[in-house]
Formats: sequence, structure tokens, C-alpha cells
Amino acid sequence: MTESINNISIDIKGLTKQYGEQKALDNVTLSIHEREIVGLLGPNGAGKSTMMKIITCFIPATKGEVRVCNYDVNEESRKIRSLIGYLPEQNPLYNELYVRENLEFIAGIHGIKGKERKNVVEEIIEKVGLTKEVRKKIGALSKGYKQRVGIAQALIHNPKILILDEPTTGLDPNQLVEIRSLIKGLGKDKTVILSTHIMQEVEAVCSRAVIINNGKLVADDSVRALAQGETLEQKFREITSSI
Ligand code: ADP
Repeated sequence: MTESINNISIDIKGLTKQYGEQKALDNVTLSIHEREIVGLLGPNGAGKSTMMKIITCFIPATKGEVRVCNYDVNEESRKIRSLIGYLPEQNPLYNELYVRENLEFIAGIHGIKGKERKNVVEEIIEKVGLTKEVRKKIGALSKGYKQRVGIAQALIHNPKILILDEPTTGLDPNQLVEIRSLIKGLGKDKTVILSTHIMQEVEAVCSRAVIINNGKLVADDSVRALAQGETLEQKFREITSSI
């Protein structure tokens, strides 16, 4: 299987996910190109996390096809996991570990060893702006710095694709601005999907907005086109209240 024969990073066709009686995703079709920063917008319960968990091979789809860099999620999940960095909604961190120790541990899980591991960890600490806090235990960090550690963990194996589930929830206004600008910078050489219910976030960070509501894809366009003549927030309310 060749990697990415065209510039499509993530190709989703007819994706449906059923949790028992509940349909969390309903026949979603979507293609995401390399180096796009896509904002996945929708109210709570829309299906955003479910879509991310399927793309990252954490849960299987009920129906449909999902390919990541042209690999099928059902057949080549190990390969896909090596190509994706994922920050889940509940940022999973070891509070008892020191920042550097934690990142070395995660790098080790990815098979990065010895001198290379040291170099990679130092590079990532600088890239995500953790230098000042590196001597602290993770449990002693503020929410914003914990998110940076989560993003560093997702980036440590230099993935082609970053999937960030509500990366800015609970941050204060300063932290918000910093994390958004960090994510925007990462999108220069990676495909990024981030989920949020904050429209301003999509307008500030993303090139494209995908709106889902009740498991259905209800809008997909460039942020500029979607927000033409009105704010994205007005558009979002219009779309989600008409269904
Ligand atoms: P979002 O991320 O947009 O808030 P989710 O993907 O978490 O939405 O959830 C979509 C729907 O699926 C919700 O109604 C949620 O309650 C339901 N759901 C999510 N996970 C499960 C699960 N493991 N079992 C049953 N229902 C679930």
C-alpha cells in the first residue's frame, strides 16, 4: 500500500457510528487535504469526538470507509497511529511525572531511543513553549501548560496529522491566544483537525469549517465562504437551529 497517492490526508465515505440505538454519526462523507487546518464545529453531542476516535483507530465504525494517508482504519491501524498525533478531550497525563521525564517516557513508547530521544524531547519542549516549566511535576502545572504537555505528547513522533479534541476548553484568555497561535503554526506543515464549539476559534485558527449536528454533516466550506456576509456564529446558529 502506498502512502498518500494524492494530497488527501483523510478520506471519509458514508461514515455511520451507532452506539446501540443511538446514531452518533450518520452517513458522513468528507475529504481533508494535506496541511489543511479544519475546525470541526458542533454542539455537545453532535458526534465530533466519535469521528475523531474513529479516525485515530480508537473505536471502529459501524458502516462506511475511513482512509488515513490512503491506509484503511480497519486494516492498518498501527501504521495510521504512527502517522497521527492525538490529543483526546480528557488530556491523559501522569501528574506524578516531571515534564521532561513524561515526554521521554512517551518518546520511548514511540520507539525513539538514546541521543535521538534527548534531542527530540528538547526540541518539542521549546516548540510548545514549555522551557520555563520543565522542572515542575505535571500535577503542579496550570491548565494551559498541561495542554501544552498534551500537545507535545501528540507531536513527539513528528506525525503528519494532528487531531485535537477541544484543545482550548477551560483556558484563560491569555492561554487561549497562545495555544491558538501554537496550533496555527503547527498547521504550516501538518494536517490539523480540531474540534470546538467556539466559532471565534475556528475563525482565528482554521482555513476550513466542517459543521456537524446530530451526527450529520451540515456545512463544509472555507471559513471565509461560510462566514460571508455574516459571522460564522450567525451561520452556525442558522444551520443548527433549522434541523
Ligand atoms: P461531541 O464530541 O460532538 O460532543 P460525541 O461524539 O461525544 O459528541 O457524542 C455523540 C453522541 O454519541 C452523544 O449523544 C453521546 O451521548 C453518544 N455517545 C458517545 N460515546 C458513547 C458511548 N461510548 N456509548 C453510548 N453513547 C455514546
